[in-house]
Amino acid sequence: MSSINNPAITVGEMKLHGVEKIWATCSQCRRPWLVPVEFLPATTNLATIAKLMICPNCGGRSVMASPASVGRD
Ligand SMILES: [Zn+2]
Repeated sequence: MSSINNPAITVGEMKLHGVEKIWATCSQCRRPWLVPVEFLPATTNLATIAKLMICPNCGGRSVMASPASVGRD
């Protein structure tokens, strides 16, 4: 049950949990934003996505990512 927040979880595994978006949060300005991941390769993992993201607010590259909409409809 807790594996959903593992940084090694892949897009394919998130889809199995019904997750098609992730919450990204900038560690510099703390701005959160939703990132759709459904178009990414199924083997891409959460840690890789976080490394690739750039904050749209401040341009910061230190971004935290966690699966969104778990347990919601
Ligand atoms: Zn930022």
